Amino acid sequence: MNDDRPRIFFIGSYMHAFVLRAPRFPRDGETVFGTDSEIGPGGKGSNQAIAAARLGADVDMLACVGADSFGDEARQLWQAEGINPRWIHVDPERASGMAFIMVNEQGQNRIIVNPGANDTLTARHADEAEDAIAQANVLVAQFESPVRVVERALELARRHGARTILNPAPARDVSDSLLSLVDVITPNEAEAQALAGLSEDSFTAEAAARALRERGVEIVVLTLGESGAYVFDDAGGRPVPGIHVPAVDTTGAGDAFTGALAVALARRWSIDQATSFANLGGAFCVTRPGVVPGLGLERELLSLRKPGDRVSPTVGGA
Ligand code: ADP
Repeated sequence: MNDDRPRIFFIGSYMHAFVLRAPRFPRDGETVFGTDSEIGPGGKGSNQAIAAARLGADVDMLACVGADSFGDEARQLWQAEGINPRWIHVDPERASGMAFIMVNEQGQNRIIVNPGANDTLTARHADEAEDAIAQANVLVAQFESPVRVVERALELARRHGARTILNPAPARDVSDSLLSLVDVITPNEAEAQALAGLSEDSFTAEAAARALRERGVEIVVLTLGESGAYVFDDAGGRPVPGIHVPAVDTTGAGDAFTGALAVALARRWSIDQATSFANLGGAFCVTRPGVVPGLGLERELLSLRKPGDRVSPTVGGA
């Protein structure tokens, strides 16, 4: 480990993704012919950890895959990305996590996720990694891993002074006691609405952010697709505009965003600077097909800036 680099500990879900495209979804009992398919690595935790590793962070990840070819592929990928294998477990009984994603001509999707080996992680696994969590600048979790491991990891991070980021995806019902362990939460609009308990009609970024802060979160960074993000902290709420890019595939934008935000916060940038950097990560991701190929290097992200933009205290104005 290199002492100069930010250290980030991820609770890392892994899902092998099977994407099948067809003109329309099949009805019950029906088979339709698809037009193309892609199979590859996914999972929010894994994507976010890779995003951070590519941006120069030292990355630890607590994850569990099955003893199958998908798990092998995941571990090879993480090794190639320089992610520390120490907290990566292999469960001999369970299949690696999988996601079956049907996409129709309108770009809508229907997804079945089988968490498989991801679901074997317990609070004990987080306890075993306490020393690594204690050395991290930032800890990041999502909701594809069991809530019990997420909650313990957040508790350990708090105890040892690591900043905590929760990407509350996919949306789940959670307690206020879990949310009160979160320094920065990064929901998209649908997740923010669900967690804030708002109806579609009463939803605004500000109303959702206020409700989440009331539930115990310190800073809300709500992602708004191509519009960028909305930040709400003690100083109030403000938009952080997105980057205009030609979008090719928006899958994984939220993961690229949260991974980049974690790196910037681990470097102790302000929340506004960090959110601007995260917008670059999300925007770069949508310019490439697939998720992992859309997780950029720092120079690739910075190349999306418009003249005069400043997105970091150290690199700016170019
Ligand atoms: P999710 O992918 O979780 O649904 P969003 O759609 O809000 O989340 O996207 C996450 C982030 O990715 C946004 O805050 C923004 O920074 C970036 N992003 C997403 N879509 C686009 C787009 N079409 N153009 C530019 N940036 C985008």
